[in-house]
Amino acid sequence: MSEQVGADILLGQVLSFASDPFADGPSAARHESHGAVAIENGRILATGPADQVRAAYPQARITDYGQCLISAGFIDAHVHYPQTAIIASWGKRLIDWLNSYTFPEEMRFADRAYADEIANRYLDLALAHGTTSMCTYATIHPESVDAFFTAAQSRGLRAFAGKTCMDRNAPETLRDTVQSSYDDSKRLLQKWHRQDRLSYVITPRFSPTSTPEQLAALGQLWHEYPDCLMQTHLSEQVDEIAWVKDLFPQSRDYLDTYESQGLLRSGAVYGHAIHLTQREKDRLIEAGASLVHCPTSNTFIGSGLFDMSHANHLRVGLATDTGGGSSFSMLHTMAAAYEVGQLRGQALHPAHLWWLATVGSARALHAEHQIGNIAPGMEADLTILDLQSTPAIEQSTRRAADIWQAIFPTIMMGDDRAIRATWIGGKSTA
Ligand SMILES: [Zn+2]
Repeated sequence: MSEQVGADILLGQVLSFASDPFADGPSAARHESHGAVAIENGRILATGPADQVRAAYPQARITDYGQCLISAGFIDAHVHYPQTAIIASWGKRLIDWLNSYTFPEEMRFADRAYADEIANRYLDLALAHGTTSMCTYATIHPESVDAFFTAAQSRGLRAFAGKTCMDRNAPETLRDTVQSSYDDSKRLLQKWHRQDRLSYVITPRFSPTSTPEQLAALGQLWHEYPDCLMQTHLSEQVDEIAWVKDLFPQSRDYLDTYESQGLLRSGAVYGHAIHLTQREKDRLIEAGASLVHCPTSNTFIGSGLFDMSHANHLRVGLATDTGGGSSFSMLHTMAAAYEVGQLRGQALHPAHLWWLATVGSARALHAEHQIGNIAPGMEADLTILDLQSTPAIEQSTRRAADIWQAIFPTIMMGDDRAIRATWIGGKSTA
């Protein structure tokens, strides 16, 4: 017998998506100015005009958020939770940044207690910023995966993570081997994949830090567990691409270093993917791969400008890339995506930005039937936003003639102060 907990109704402005704004334009979004979301047993029962939803569930508990915006929770599709404490560290190129900050910090995750501390700190920060799901890299240490999944499970989150694999071009204490990376990944996968709302992700860091043999072993593991995702980095910086060319002289291009080892198909999630050849673009589309745009990271590290036209052909998600990115906030990340789009001559409407941070990221993680939107049957992970969270935003919003004008100042200037509440699996976290 399931516990009868009764329905909840949340009142406010409700924003959801009926279709993809990259295909159908801003009218793909649905806005209900006096709306409601009814939830029960962790799932959304109904959404629509407040009067109708209240009439349908007269016994439900009411939580009235007034003029606040009720959205699907944000989904951060590419995170390095172990880099939480080194976010916003001054650096130069990617390789310098890895050597100066990332690798010394990641060494500390051999200590389970430290991994627990940072996993909990990261998740508290993510939730405070309205992020209700994430896909993270751990470190090479199995303990770092256990720490993250334990912390995510205790919060009831839908979360994705994997042990980062590196068997070359990293400090000795941060290297695994072909065999240990396969064995540890498999053991962690068997332990955590599909436990509650958790998903294991096979995670080679990127080609420069894996031998072809390690990539092949992880390709083999993915073949054995085809319903997992596989995440890695692709073509983030020009220097990095030249390095890959030196390390893999036989490969046609960067993508081929993965493709030739069984690491390209639907379910592959590539972070960055900025500098792509035509062959790579064609193969990514043929394979049905996912790309994740990390705009604050790309500008912070100076990597380049993502081509948002990929969203017309591929599953494209949005991410902070914490701590290469400079913020935990998906609002800041949307603002950076807007600015990167402007620099490329690709004007993104607020509907595109909001879609990327919710449905787009869910699709990139093949979780769009569970999270990322407000519709009956979806899991009830919601973020409630105050669209007048600071005086600067409030004075701009006051002039808004429509919902997008009301939302855009919060996208451009908002932060964790805009997050009024989050609901995870139908429960308020406040
Ligand atoms: Zn990354």
